[in-house]
Amino acid sequence: MISRNEQGKGILDFDVVVIGGGHAGCEAAAAAARVGVQVCLLTQKIDTIGEMSCNPAIGGVGKGTLVREIDALDGLMGRAADTGGIQFRVLNSSKGPAVRGPRAQVDRKLYKFAIQNLLYSLKSLTVRAGEAEDIWLDGSGSLLGVICANGDRIRSAHVIITTGTFLGGIIHIGEDQRPAGRLGDAASSGLSGTLASVGFRLGRLKTGTPPRLDGKTIDYAALEIQHGDDAPVPFSYLTDQIGRQQIQCHITGTTQQTHDIIRSNLHRTPIYSGAIESRGPRYCPSIEDKVVRFSDRGRHQIFLEPEGLDSEVVYPNGISTSLPYEIQVKMVQSIPGLEEARLLRPGYAVEYDFIDPRELHPSLETQKIPGLYLAGQINGTTGYEEAAAQGLVAGLNASRSVLGKQPVIFDRAEALMGVLIDDLVTMGVTEPYRMFTSRAEYRLRLRPDNADLRLTERGTIAGCVNNKRYSVFQSKKTALSLAKRTLESLQISPTLAQSHGLSVRSDGVSRSAIELLGYPGIGLAELIPIWPELGHLNPKLAKQIQIDAQYQCYLERQDTEIQAYRRDLGVKIPDQINYETVGSLSHEAKERLIQTRPETIAAASRLPGVTPAALTALMVHLRREANRAQG
Ligand code: FAD
Repeated sequence: MISRNEQGKGILDFDVVVIGGGHAGCEAAAAAARVGVQVCLLTQKIDTIGEMSCNPAIGGVGKGTLVREIDALDGLMGRAADTGGIQFRVLNSSKGPAVRGPRAQVDRKLYKFAIQNLLYSLKSLTVRAGEAEDIWLDGSGSLLGVICANGDRIRSAHVIITTGTFLGGIIHIGEDQRPAGRLGDAASSGLSGTLASVGFRLGRLKTGTPPRLDGKTIDYAALEIQHGDDAPVPFSYLTDQIGRQQIQCHITGTTQQTHDIIRSNLHRTPIYSGAIESRGPRYCPSIEDKVVRFSDRGRHQIFLEPEGLDSEVVYPNGISTSLPYEIQVKMVQSIPGLEEARLLRPGYAVEYDFIDPRELHPSLETQKIPGLYLAGQINGTTGYEEAAAQGLVAGLNASRSVLGKQPVIFDRAEALMGVLIDDLVTMGVTEPYRMFTSRAEYRLRLRPDNADLRLTERGTIAGCVNNKRYSVFQSKKTALSLAKRTLESLQISPTLAQSHGLSVRSDGVSRSAIELLGYPGIGLAELIPIWPELGHLNPKLAKQIQIDAQYQCYLERQDTEIQAYRRDLGVKIPDQINYETVGSLSHEAKERLIQTRPETIAAASRLPGVTPAALTALMVHLRREANRAQG
């Protein structure tokens, strides 16, 4: 429904407006639409919806778990990566299941189209091309909606900003600087100005990308080949198998000559010349940083990743740079296999504004402006998956708020996205935040294989999981419990097990098939000769049961810790507590606690700046005081 104001400008009405069609924006808009409210996705260019700004890959260690969690909540990323994936690999496949990382090299175009198709299939979602110039506030600072650059307004009490690297974006190529969100896309300036004027704390961060190469000019003959997995493992719980043609990548590396070229031109890069002072992602450094920080290393590995099945563009993963263009050419041509390589696009660094995520509630709603949510790189994170996970949570909570429902908050024991958001809103960021499994206390639980078992039920109750997924999930759950019962009912004596070549202690105690699956080196293949009926068991279910069986004793211990963590969250904080006497509290946490005086540890945990360490200090203090009171 469109009306006109006195100046003849259009006014549209929506329940939720999402600004930005990147990874956060797409998941936010889709999650809000799945809940059933009327959503507008407003983005600068329709054809860049779902664009991957940097590497053509989804997933990895930690990130792959986030993709599975997004999928378990019926998000888009996993399904789109399965549609566009051209080389699937499970990283760390020889290590424990908690640190395995599903990853796929993705055809950029296919991925983008898959995201767009999924969005267009959502009935209550309207996609509009346009630039959000500003948020629309009334005289008292309450949110009224969004003001577009063409003067139109979109009225909505719920707005989610997901503008990535575009706020105050400046790209740097050597001494060259220009305002842009990413190469070829205009920066956005109005929004950060308003947010700053309302009192939000803003900071600057930077990231970078490598040049793109013309694959026809690369000499692959002498380069090492990197194959994908023989049996590609899909991301989505709805994908049975990957049918698409799979490709191979190649590996090369920098040389001493490359390092010399970089060293002698460092003064021409914005970071080393002092033109950029903001921090970049520590775990994804530029090639300049690698050469300086690891000066003893003679070679840095580079993965040559094709950007698509019908594309000649190659992404040289590992040489993100902001050297001047002509130096980039020299640097690239000093690398084996790339002696004749032609650059299709230069690499560059981009510097941008982010909002201190301690300004947010764990629902991702801002504290200063009710109804305004932020998600993605604007909150100081880096990576498609981190952005998408936040987008989903913001979209879900904005639409629940429209319906007058409580926000859904995933805790640190139930989802890696819970860890991500808790870290952001309690600790803030000093450099672009990237997800690692090591950030999670309960990582044995937060695995990529069991994200649906952890989250799909919760997402269904929250309203963001549709019927099809729920019925697939229910069938899997039923089959899983049936398979577990079967495996528990099959028993074997040690002598008989040994006669089948299984290494089991001769203690006279019978073992069930499920117990045997927990032994190292025993899988379904070893059990089928003993119990041929297990040949009918779905291998995926067997694998899931095996992981749980292998981790059983650790998981039991971790479950006790999780129960204690959740019990602690419910602990009441006495009104008369003197925070000045609580040891080991940071100044910031103390100030917040004194200002807010939360009633429970759970409420304290939602305060920005009150970190897990601060909560532990508070719990220790409360226990000590309780013991003292009891004499
Ligand atoms: P984006 O994907 O950037 O999407 C922002 C969207 O908002 C775009 O659609 C844009 O058009 C739209 N928009 C912006 N302003 C407005 C406005 N005013 N009105 C309407 N629409 C607007 N991540 C890594 O993990 N590793 C890397 O090495 C890496 N390198 C990167 C290099 C570069 C140069 C860039 C730009 C990003 C890089 N990233 C990297 C980050 C990764 O691309 C982002 O983390 C991710 O895309 C963030 O998703 P997002 O949804 O927050 O924002």
